[in-house]
Amino acid sequence: MEMLFDFAPEISTASYIVASLLFIMSLAGLSRHETSKGGIVYGISGMVLALATTGLLTVSNGWGDPAAQVGLIFLLVGLVIGASIGLWRAKVVEMTGMPELIALLHSFVGLAAVFIGWNGALYDVETPEALKGVHHAEVFIGVFIGAVTFTGSIVAYLKLSAKISSKPLMLPGKNFLNVGALVGFVAFTVWYVITPELWILIAVTALALALGWHLVASIGGGDMPVVVSMLNSYSGWAAAAAGFLLSNDLLIVTGALVGSSGAYLSYIMCKAMNRSFISVIAGGFGIEAPSAKDEELGEYRELDAASVAELLKNASSVVITPGYGMAVAQAQYPVAELAAKLRERGISVRFGIHPVAGRLPGHMNVLLAEAKVPYDIVDEMDEINDELANTSVVLVIGANDTVNPAAAEDPSSPIAGMPVLRVWEAENVVVFKRSMASGYAGVQNPLFFRENAAMLFGDAKERVEDILKAL
Ligand code: NDP
Repeated sequence: MEMLFDFAPEISTASYIVASLLFIMSLAGLSRHETSKGGIVYGISGMVLALATTGLLTVSNGWGDPAAQVGLIFLLVGLVIGASIGLWRAKVVEMTGMPELIALLHSFVGLAAVFIGWNGALYDVETPEALKGVHHAEVFIGVFIGAVTFTGSIVAYLKLSAKISSKPLMLPGKNFLNVGALVGFVAFTVWYVITPELWILIAVTALALALGWHLVASIGGGDMPVVVSMLNSYSGWAAAAAGFLLSNDLLIVTGALVGSSGAYLSYIMCKAMNRSFISVIAGGFGIEAPSAKDEELGEYRELDAASVAELLKNASSVVITPGYGMAVAQAQYPVAELAAKLRERGISVRFGIHPVAGRLPGHMNVLLAEAKVPYDIVDEMDEINDELANTSVVLVIGANDTVNPAAAEDPSSPIAGMPVLRVWEAENVVVFKRSMASGYAGVQNPLFFRENAAMLFGDAKERVEDILKAL
């Protein structure tokens, strides 16, 4: 044992390199369907190796020292409690609850970075005098990114779980507040490097907590998918900053991997949704408050399940566009059965998937795969959009924002410019939902009031089952 401890630093350097490689291979694996299972295995192996090595290093450092042994017991207890809660949450979480769980997990990374930063400031005994300035700057960067990630992720969690409204907060001069907070951070950092006083650290922590909260609160529901991946990126940078403070190479590499891949994902999501990347990461910079006009949209038509069944019998082509409501109702199984039944009758059936339908990238694809819908009838938005004008019936199953014509037609709409499924171009559109309530972005949908559209109210699963019976 003693011998193992003697070589702990060398062993840890080698296994941190192997763990870093495993994480890189994990990311590469996760980027394709066919290799994703392997990617998960690499990721788990890398994490097990990293934890075991960190455990070995900690034990070897504290061996024989009673004070360090108490620390080790705390570490072990924390590890067991944390791992048990993590396992339990991951087991019970519903697919629809994944984004808010991820947001909550990001908040822990942020909080950990704040604690590590504070610890680095209060118990710094090792830094040589010449490097004190660099150390102080590291503390500030770590605390700042960590605190922004912490409160930003909490607000994202509250918005995604509908505990607070998903509407953007529009404080007067919000852009000025954000830019002012950044300038304040730089000024405080310089000040702290010159005269490291505790009150400056307290002030910058408070400033960053407020900025994180404001940045995410200012972003509207339609941009939340980008916010989740942006917070993922921030949590990576927070971990990398903590790595610098702890002189832990693995944390720096892993943090940088998460930070850069999250930033790139946010960028491609912004491009896909026709959003300005800079505007979203700067808390909706430059986006003005949408005019809250509650205009009269006219009358809507209502159909019952039997009439929809009749409409489907006479259709030559049907497109199904699912959304978050299909996930809530768990309607994918009867929807898959309906698609199969219609195809048996010689009717062409295709699915049109919007890139941000549901609450996770790929959410609808997972549900449809679960219900064994054949891959070859599932199209991406860009593949199906031009065909919608030649479709007899579109069934909108629990989707709302992703089929909202206001995005394409109303420049003052909060979701203006976001590409949507142009379902209103079809001959008939049937919308399955429980009420006239708006979608996640909190915007009313003029589709429901179009002449070729009709509502089928109720739980999507029950209504699709009713149609199956009527068929
Ligand atoms: P929306 O969230 O816009 O709308 C879903 C609709 O489903 C609601 O209007 C609701 O209406 C209806 N619904 C809910 N439960 C049921 C049920 N049991 N039966 C029938 N209908 C039901 O969904 P979309 O998928 O169209 O859009 C996704 C939104 O989520 C976008 O704004 C996107 O930006 C955002 N988002 C997406 C993420 C992603 O990565 N995909 C992540 C975070 C946010 P009613 O209450 O009347 O039934």
